[in-house]
Amino acid sequence: MRSLFRSLPRWYNASKNMRIKKNDNVIVLSGKDKGKTGKVLQVLPAGERAVVQAVNIRTLHAKPKKQGEKGQMIKSEAPVHISNIMMICPKCAKPARLGARMDEKNKVRVCKRCDAVV
Ligand SMILES: [Zn+2]
Repeated sequence: MRSLFRSLPRWYNASKNMRIKKNDNVIVLSGKDKGKTGKVLQVLPAGERAVVQAVNIRTLHAKPKKQGEKGQMIKSEAPVHISNIMMICPKCAKPARLGARMDEKNKVRVCKRCDAVV
């Protein structure tokens, strides 16, 4: 299958501090899927993007590769920019901004709405 991810210049490949993590529940803030919620399937720190389940669906029209094989349409999620999604806090069940705090030794994420560690 052809990759949906456009290649990025090497200088852009620095690891960014991504507040959104895999398996987070997020809400989409803009675009055609505005208001939709879904689980984060993959985080792409290099492009500051995340792949969210059932959000930003792209259809690839694949031609038959072998004789007798049928062409098909492959639907898959394309990455969305993290600025267009917001995490839904599991504690207060609302979209919330995230902060960071030191918890004994580790840096933890906190919900800025209810102050719970997420
Ligand atoms: Zn919260």
